[in-house]
Amino acid sequence: MVKLTFYGGVGEIGGNKILLEDDKGKLFLDFGYPYSKYRVFYEEYLKPRPGAGLLDMLVMGLLPQLEGIYRTDLETENLWQQFRRAEHYRKLEDIDGILLTHAHLDHSGHISFLREDIPVYATATTAFIAKAVQDSGISSFDQQVCYFTPRVEECLKGWRQGAYVASSSGDRQRRFCVADKLELSEEAEDFWEKATRQKKLVSQPLGDISKCSFHLRCFPVDHSIPGACSWGIETSSGWVIYSGDLRLHGRHGKLTELMIKQAAQLHPKALILEGTNVDKAANVFEQEVYENAFKAINDARGLVIADFPPRDVNRLLTFLQVARDTKRKLTILPRDAYLLKTMRLLDREIPDLTEEDALVIYQKTTAARSPASWLRKTYQEYSSKIVLAKDVSSNQGDFILCFSFWDLNELPSIQPRAGSLYVFSSSEPHNEEQEMDFRRLHSWLERFQLRAFGLPVERNGEWEIPEEEKGLHASGHACGPDLLRVAREIQPEVLIPVHSEKPEFYVDNLSDSGINVILPAEDGTVEI
Ligand SMILES: [Zn+2]
Repeated sequence: MVKLTFYGGVGEIGGNKILLEDDKGKLFLDFGYPYSKYRVFYEEYLKPRPGAGLLDMLVMGLLPQLEGIYRTDLETENLWQQFRRAEHYRKLEDIDGILLTHAHLDHSGHISFLREDIPVYATATTAFIAKAVQDSGISSFDQQVCYFTPRVEECLKGWRQGAYVASSSGDRQRRFCVADKLELSEEAEDFWEKATRQKKLVSQPLGDISKCSFHLRCFPVDHSIPGACSWGIETSSGWVIYSGDLRLHGRHGKLTELMIKQAAQLHPKALILEGTNVDKAANVFEQEVYENAFKAINDARGLVIADFPPRDVNRLLTFLQVARDTKRKLTILPRDAYLLKTMRLLDREIPDLTEEDALVIYQKTTAARSPASWLRKTYQEYSSKIVLAKDVSSNQGDFILCFSFWDLNELPSIQPRAGSLYVFSSSEPHNEEQEMDFRRLHSWLERFQLRAFGLPVERNGEWEIPEEEKGLHASGHACGPDLLRVAREIQPEVLIPVHSEKPEFYVDNLSDSGINVILPAEDGTVEI
């Protein structure tokens, strides 16, 4: 008998935390950051207190109440006493590992809190992206996936109580075990083991997946971030397939097709399948994004700003092609350059920044006296590639600037010419906070008289892209009909939907398939 307990990803998009237990051992399938649960209580300026260790996370229901799996440096004295009578409290030891499907934080973020000796199984690309994102990002205490800053309890003189403060002993890297590519170049090893953000990193070499007590299969799939995979786990009840996030209509859709074939051959007992876009009837393909973006940008005069999701390297490559074909320069931010360089350590097909004429790097106006070392190194290494606001300003027709809403405060330095183009190649707002940001984005465009293309507009409380401007964003997730195809072709005995606001879609649409659809409950256990 295999037990699957769903601590996250039930009725919500993201935050997947699924515990698989068998007499062979225990695994977590992803350990994601639950954005929607945070939003119930918190916002930008009201956050869980890092100084309180695990307390806020456990009391507010952001982390499951499982004693024994979390970092001991975050455990306050007698922390667990108050939870021992709680309904879903458990003492849980001997976790064999986390099967991480990809480096989006809603799947990986809460790995931050787990004990460092619990291995994280992933593809090499996912491990490298996790590090690159953390090196070049804000790395708040609940998003330290690849390495973390241990905390020590300290009490300031005159204060009555202590708090958990960042220790100065150096960051500690987690143990990542990768399913592919263990022959790393020296440069790749250097990247993995060396500190780029902090003074000192206690690193751990990459391991492989052979030591896991379960027999695992890692199936690469296509998603809006490179390195995504589905996992197969051989259990005493048969194979369990966990899809992670996937699509069939992206640049690497063939990978997902291959996963479907190989998973079907295992005649799995269960398939845990995502359902983000169950209510979408069709997809926009990445090739259409290229064609539509090319048309819009080729006719444009003045500056072009392209807004697409960060870390979506495939979208970046789509816009790079548009830049080449419209004789403009794709102007990326240093963190994108750092990610591209990291990706190239594992995949030589990724363009080399130094050799690619159509790529340059935008240097923002900054007031930092001592910028982080990754940033300093990026500017040094690519010094001939740096452009400033004044360069863009004086030759506006030469550039496609890769900015999102969060970078628009650079516009006063650039002074885009009236009628310049803002191409929106990302998803529509999903919650009230994002709606507010979209209203602000529209105000910025009005202020600088920029022309929007592909940007959702609010009409009677609904956000919609104008009909003639559709087709500029290929989602990272398969549409409803494609998801049903995945289910029918893999043909598991049991299908368990996760990562969906409408999981009943599968009940409604698979009744004639011979597949038993089971809807999990939050914190509930399904036995198979
Ligand atoms: Zn994802």
